[in-house]
Amino acid sequence: MTQDAQVIVVGAGPAGSTVATYLARAGVDVLVLEKTEFPREKVCGDGLTPRGVKQLIDLGIDTSQEAGWVHSRGLRILTAELTLELDWPELTSYPPYGVSRTRQDFDDLLAKTAVKAGARLLERTTVTGAITDERTGRVIGVEGKQGPEKTPVRYHAPLVLACDGVSARLARSIGIETDEKRPMGVAVRRYYKSPRHDDPFIEGHLELWDRKDPRNPQLLPGYGWAFPLGDGTVNVGLGMLSTSKSFRNMDYRALMRQWLDSTPEEWGYREENAIGRIGGAGLPMGFNRTPHYRDGLLLLGDAGGMVSPFNGEGISAAMESAQLAAQFVVHALARPEGSSRERALRGYPLALKELMGGYYRLGNVFAKAIGNPKVMRAATKYGLRINPLIPLIYKGLSGCYDAKGGDAVDRMISLAARLMPSA
Ligand SMILES: Cc1cc2nc3c(=O)[nH]c(=O)nc-3n(C[C@H](O)[C@H](O)[C@H](O)COP(=O)(O)OP(=O)(O)OC[C@H]3O[C@@H](n4cnc5c(N)ncnc54)[C@H](O)[C@@H]3O)c2cc1C
Repeated sequence: MTQDAQVIVVGAGPAGSTVATYLARAGVDVLVLEKTEFPREKVCGDGLTPRGVKQLIDLGIDTSQEAGWVHSRGLRILTAELTLELDWPELTSYPPYGVSRTRQDFDDLLAKTAVKAGARLLERTTVTGAITDERTGRVIGVEGKQGPEKTPVRYHAPLVLACDGVSARLARSIGIETDEKRPMGVAVRRYYKSPRHDDPFIEGHLELWDRKDPRNPQLLPGYGWAFPLGDGTVNVGLGMLSTSKSFRNMDYRALMRQWLDSTPEEWGYREENAIGRIGGAGLPMGFNRTPHYRDGLLLLGDAGGMVSPFNGEGISAAMESAQLAAQFVVHALARPEGSSRERALRGYPLALKELMGGYYRLGNVFAKAIGNPKVMRAATKYGLRINPLIPLIYKGLSGCYDAKGGDAVDRMISLAARLMPSA
């Protein structure tokens, strides 16, 4: 059988472009198949915490403001009763700033970085499923449709990486399904022209109310955000967890309008300042699709359910999984095909568990707890008033802590994550 590449990467979002860059730089022949054409929009909050910025720096990307990134110095948390401004923590592992940039630009930049490194990118190529070896069941390539004519195509490689996001079509084609017991999220967002476009803080609004029954309003497990983009606009949106009873029958667009109508008029989050439609998508979290390696197929980013159950951030985890996957794939390819190569590949899910497993298990417990409106109410009403708890809540929820060393708070989070049986 002819091989089209050493590795096929399906999807050129943050996971796919990052892994393709690392692999190409290591001299691996990589073919990236992407269903859209860059530059293109992707529904997202467009915000990265310092954890995500580290990934950009690791890739060698210039994250300065001159290079087009909007920097945040921290997070402003708002409830009905208080407002807290918290600078990003000073850490060994992560820089002291976050960034925002529209995914239209961001994904284009990452895809160009991969191509510059030597990856071959084929756009307008939609993968419909895996090709498996009839005898062994191993994934040996992918099939799909290409171009406006939807020409059927098949590509072969000894290793395939599923980076196709929340749809996870490739993983599902070999029977790797979602674990419905794990939490999911839904998020919606829209752009608004606003005088707050150059606010140095990103914002989290912790009070989203379900007022369908006006006599018994329920505080929802989620938050609204405002991520300034520095160009006259702000990315405003909200996300909510599946652990709430209201999750399935919620009209998220109506919830967003209701929340924004309660914000001060001068912020500008009103219909007349809106740009484009309200877009939304699912947030696959807490490792809700496993195994992350099986039969020649590795799952990265959203395809492997890697959004944080604590805060809905998924770009950093997508890029972290890409960094790990590249290391294991390079080593696997340096070994003879067969059991030795398999052993190297089995290291990938183990390394992922070590990096995120305990933290995500903790997050899944957290998501379940705040699904109860009473717990959510107590957390927003009292938790943020207890000063010694604030660094713990802040670092824990943002994922910005030093997993090794660090201060007492960092050690407490690391210990809790280590003691948790891995997700
Ligand atoms: C409203 C909203 C707001 C969010 N805000 C944030 C935020 O502010 N910060 C943050 O870190 N995360 C945020 N997230 C989560 C974040 O968007 C994802 O976690 C992240 O994009 C995952 O990256 P990925 O590379 O795994 O997948 P994706 O970014 O989804 O990339 C998948 C790629 O694969 C392509 N593709 C899909 N199917 C196929 C196929 N069959 N064949 C070929 N190509 C295919 C897609 O076109 C896409 O380019 C948000 C999500 C939503 C819905």
